Amino acid sequence: MPDIWSSALSALQPRLGKHTFEMWLAPIRMGRVDGTTLHLVAPNRFLQEWFETHYLDTVLDEIESQTKTRYVALVEVSADEDPHGAPSAQPGVPEPAPIEPTPVPIVKRLKRAEPPKGLAPRYRFESFITGGSNELAASAAMAAADEPGSRFNPLFLYGGVGLGKTHLLHAVGHHIHETRPELRIVYLSAERFMNEFVTAVRHNGFDAFRAKYREDCDVLLLDDVQFIAGRDRTMDEFFHVFNALYEAGKQIMCTADRVPADMPGMEERLTSRLNWGLVADIKAPDLETRIAIISQKAERDRIDIAPDVCMTLATLVRSNVRELEGALLRVAAFASLKGRPITADFVRDVLGEAAASAAPPPVSVEAIQKAVATYFSVRVSDLKGPRRHRGISRPRMIAMYLSRELTSSSFPEIGLRFGGKDHSTVINACKRIGALQQDDQDLCNAVTALRTQLLSSGA
Ligand code: ADP
Ligand code: MG
Repeated sequence: MPDIWSSALSALQPRLGKHTFEMWLAPIRMGRVDGTTLHLVAPNRFLQEWFETHYLDTVLDEIESQTKTRYVALVEVSADEDPHGAPSAQPGVPEPAPIEPTPVPIVKRLKRAEPPKGLAPRYRFESFITGGSNELAASAAMAAADEPGSRFNPLFLYGGVGLGKTHLLHAVGHHIHETRPELRIVYLSAERFMNEFVTAVRHNGFDAFRAKYREDCDVLLLDDVQFIAGRDRTMDEFFHVFNALYEAGKQIMCTADRVPADMPGMEERLTSRLNWGLVADIKAPDLETRIAIISQKAERDRIDIAPDVCMTLATLVRSNVRELEGALLRVAAFASLKGRPITADFVRDVLGEAAASAAPPPVSVEAIQKAVATYFSVRVSDLKGPRRHRGISRPRMIAMYLSRELTSSSFPEIGLRFGGKDHSTVINACKRIGALQQDDQDLCNAVTALRTQLLSSGA
């Protein structure tokens, strides 16, 4: 019998559209079928709720039209299906009582709220360029901003520095303030949250602190949450703030440099709550996105830069958007100082130094010999010596191969450093190791591990 679940989904996919389908239906799996009861499994509580309220009926209708039977469904949450899912209960750690969010989000207030403090005017959705690296984060942020408290709550964005997390957090604040001016939006960094909390406790101001975050707040935007990991009392307080807001159906959005589970010292119960909603990452932008970002910034700052020069700049600076902005400003400043147009060569001249410093640090032949010797438990002197035993000659060839790949030494130079061997020996070694990697998995792993180790240690 074809699976009724899969048949219904295949029929629905074209109707719902790829994006909706992948986001909301594809993650739901069918477990058992008991008579006319379907047991479904959602990867997290957020998807479970969203699916139940928005798509379950549609799917049941479709199944009914295909099978002529009306099924009912039980949707359960499976923690282990979610890559960022709440960790399952550990022995000895009491599970916190589950909180039921209020279905009707956000109290209706008619009064206009004070404009949110601390938001940079520039950080808006309109000025945020999206691409593959940040698409999910940006769309989730837009959805949360459109319907605060009901979709993507909490919303947790994470990624490396300078990739636009704060930008999106502010954009959400601006958007909500413009579309729902009655909502009280509180934006702050987790560091500031901690400082305010400590001051409040010290100076008997806890009631005001409590009111500010638990009661007089409809939207909490908390930046750089990793800061409070390991600070027990602050985490405890944030836990209570989180519960109060979440129970009242208020929007919570946080950013951090990593997922909660990877934060040393982060409380289990907070980790689990931060995973209740949507966890989305932001990666370093790809070339296309970098070019679009540069063009936008150049236009905003009235910097005259041709498209092919944007491309050169985007190729030279890959790490993050903040660096990219810095590089553009540096180039523009130099150009105006020297009265020169911004050409590709000019960009290379100005950024040459920076680009070189961004390249991996050089590796020496000695460092390679040492690393290879340690890896294979042989002596460096053996690598340089004449012994042809396989236990020695293999590591020696690998060391030669890596020397050629990771240093700028020529074949004769490498030969010299391996006890005065002929350059043809080195060439043969490089060829052999290159070829052997095709089908010798162990060798391939060894070369990869050594390469990674050498490049990251900057030996
Ligand atoms: P993070 O908080 O992740 O460290 P920020 O939000 O502070 O990074 O971003 C650093 C700078 O890069 C800001 O000036 C921001 O406006 C800009 N930026 C980052 N991503 C984008 C993007 N996708 N489009 C436009 N500007 C961006
Ligand atoms: Mg930031």
